[in-house]
Amino acid sequence: MERHIDRVLIHRDDIARRVDELAGQIAEDFGSPSGGSAADRFMPTRPDITVVPILAGSIVFLADLMRCLPLMARVRFLTVQSYTGRTTTSRGPAIDGELPEDLAGNAVLIVDDILDSGKTLALAREKILERSPAMLRTCVMLRKELPEAMETPVDYVGFDIPNEFVVGYGLDYDGYYRNLPDVVTLRPEVFS
Ligand code: 5GP
Ligand code: MG
Repeated sequence: MERHIDRVLIHRDDIARRVDELAGQIAEDFGSPSGGSAADRFMPTRPDITVVPILAGSIVFLADLMRCLPLMARVRFLTVQSYTGRTTTSRGPAIDGELPEDLAGNAVLIVDDILDSGKTLALAREKILERSPAMLRTCVMLRKELPEAMETPVDYVGFDIPNEFVVGYGLDYDGYYRNLPDVVTLRPEVFS
């Protein structure tokens, strides 16, 4: 697998540092204004945060991010399929399976791996809003330096990266490379 790598764009150590910073910001924004979390007040009736990762690309980021969050947290998964046909124009993303049911009144954070056209995040946001959360924010690990991506509203961004196809840290090519610890580009031979 290592010999398929062209360049390391973001090293695992830089990712770890940034994830920690993001979690700090998120914890500040989602922590209760009184300064004590629901758990501190012994009223675990509602989570401080419900994290909604978009499967499957966000799993590695999610696992790191949530372990840095000092909040009462729940996780509800959302699967979005993107159709990116090579010969036809993209039909756009679609929700696959059920939407999480129990989000009403919750403070929700949608988490995705990468912001490209912004369609996936826009759809996830629209669908989650139908569940009447009390608060909804969005977080992506990576954002491509593309007009569509830069214009998409998003609250937390890990890194802005050039418009290249990347894998690793959860991101795949043809189902593989998600387990690479760094964000990398692949050698051209891999695609032929
Ligand atoms: P969008 O809807 O913003 O165009 O696309 C977001 C989705 O496309 C991401 O969740 C991801 O699954 C996929 N994607 C976009 N760019 C890349 C990339 O550079 N590498 C990989 N592996 N997936 C990407
Ligand atoms: Mg994805």
